[in-house]
Amino acid sequence: MTDRLAFARALYDAVPLYDPKRAPVELDLTDNTNLWGLPPTAERTLRELAVSRITRYPSLYAAELKEALAQFVGATPECIVTGCGSDDILDSAMRAFGEPGSVVASSEPSFAMIPIFAQMNGLQYVGVPELPDHQPDLDALLAANPRILYLCSPNNPTGAVLKRETLERAVREAPGVVFVDEAYAEFSGVSAVDLAMRVDNLLVIRTMSKAFGLAGLRVGYGIGATPLVRDVEKSRGPYKLNSVAEQMALAALRHDMQWVHEHVTLAVTNRERLAAALRDRGYTPLESHANYVCVPVARAVEVGQALRARGVAARPFPGLPHVGDTLRISVGPWELVEQFLVAFDDATADVYGAAS
Ligand code: PMP
Repeated sequence: MTDRLAFARALYDAVPLYDPKRAPVELDLTDNTNLWGLPPTAERTLRELAVSRITRYPSLYAAELKEALAQFVGATPECIVTGCGSDDILDSAMRAFGEPGSVVASSEPSFAMIPIFAQMNGLQYVGVPELPDHQPDLDALLAANPRILYLCSPNNPTGAVLKRETLERAVREAPGVVFVDEAYAEFSGVSAVDLAMRVDNLLVIRTMSKAFGLAGLRVGYGIGATPLVRDVEKSRGPYKLNSVAEQMALAALRHDMQWVHEHVTLAVTNRERLAAALRDRGYTPLESHANYVCVPVARAVEVGQALRARGVAARPFPGLPHVGDTLRISVGPWELVEQFLVAFDDATADVYGAAS
């Protein structure tokens, strides 16, 4: 028996399964989720859920949730599309707007799934290294004539926020649609939603996986002009958001906003404390507007392995443009950050000590 199926699409030979190398460890700081836990009303909703929520189909296009999301972001429900995580919105939107072979251009480094979603949808991915100030190189991105221009703000992994003038120019000059991935926007307080309400070619992509602590439920959403989100909705199909996820997300939006705001504030405080602790050790972390810190660290892959050996995971990004090897560390309760720092001191002493 061969590995390759005779009837497989040739295109899929080159598509890898996503492998962020997340073998279980005692303290996992690799995925930028909410390490404080679950919003309380969302949790109660799960415990008290009516059986019929499971035995019957979910709502077709999550109308109630769209209302609550619209209120949260300052949009109207007709400008919202929901999906199974923001991954699903990105994937469906690429399918909606890309013809086979169309160019998807993205600044690099950025979200690792973008080239994979492009491949999965038969699109051509073009990655353009960012500028030294961690802003996208818009001239080079536009020169690729992208049908889809992907930007991420705050960017994963650097934590940089897209400058407003860059965003406005992208929307003005892009030959196709612009995606702004705002998975971490709650931590920055900066958003493109107001612009998405005024133009017809900007799709803002958001998630409840990070600030809202609901990553396992897979709730993502897109915000844009009604014709734009309607096509994403067609591409995604009906019944995609499950009933448990919809009810818990609704509960969080209606009753847990104080919890969300408090934990966003804590994440921001601990992010700055972690950055200061790294500076005290002689490192120069990048300025972050998200719930993680990206710090240039020599031989980051080895440091990552040495951290793992101590039960702690942070994500290495080798060879980033302008900064070289870095580690990206998710921020959580301070005890966990301290646990990371102890392991980091030990791991770096081990890796660098071994070389001398
Ligand atoms: N965009 C960015 C920038 C991310 O970092 C992630 C998750 N790591 C996602 C989108 C996907 O998140 P989800 O599918 O959980 O909404």
